[in-house]
Amino acid sequence: MDLRITEIFLSIQGESSHAGRPCSFVRLTGCPMRCVWCDSEYTFTGGERFSFEEIFTKLKDFGCSLVEVTGGEPLAQKNVFPFIAELCDKGYEVLIETGGFVSTGQVDERASIILDVKCPASGEAERNHWPNLAKLKPEKDEVKFVVTDMADWEFARGIIEEYDLSNRSKEILISPVHGITNLTEIAEAVSRSGLKVRLNLQLHKYIWGADVHGV
Ligand code: SF4
Repeated sequence: MDLRITEIFLSIQGESSHAGRPCSFVRLTGCPMRCVWCDSEYTFTGGERFSFEEIFTKLKDFGCSLVEVTGGEPLAQKNVFPFIAELCDKGYEVLIETGGFVSTGQVDERASIILDVKCPASGEAERNHWPNLAKLKPEKDEVKFVVTDMADWEFARGIIEEYDLSNRSKEILISPVHGITNLTEIAEAVSRSGLKVRLNLQLHKYIWGADVHGV
């Protein structure tokens, strides 16, 4: 079996509660969504087919026990589900970063999911697959809201309360889009909220810059 891959690389996990940890990344090609602020448009086309064995060889060479499967939208390729299961069988700690419009129902239970909930300014909020919120594993899964303005923040707050995400997930990530000018306003709203959330800045962009891939 194989997967269409944009890049495989070793770096630092840049967002989520795992930020700062060494991590191997397997970035799958393709995404049917078109979020306005997407920073991975280079994954929409192209890529190269890699067999599972070729990917496993690269990961072994990196020597890192944490692997993130990301995209594009990783769950849009059906072969990703057996691939995730094999990664878990091999003893890797596995993170899945998904845009939240594909069902997570087939993802191996041993993997941790970082699930996006798309906010209005993304232009894709209509496509959130809400049943995914009921499948969260409270001990390991995380929910991420990428926000650009106060309207997005208010939307996130409403969803957190409506779906009781503080009890349903390990972590709630509020992720301002890199480079926005109202970061202070959002940070202050988060600090005053009384919610159990984490302001989630993209560490890798501060280290390597916003447009550098494969780091
Ligand atoms: S789901 Fe992710 S990869 Fe797809 S368009 Fe949105 S941000 Fe980009």
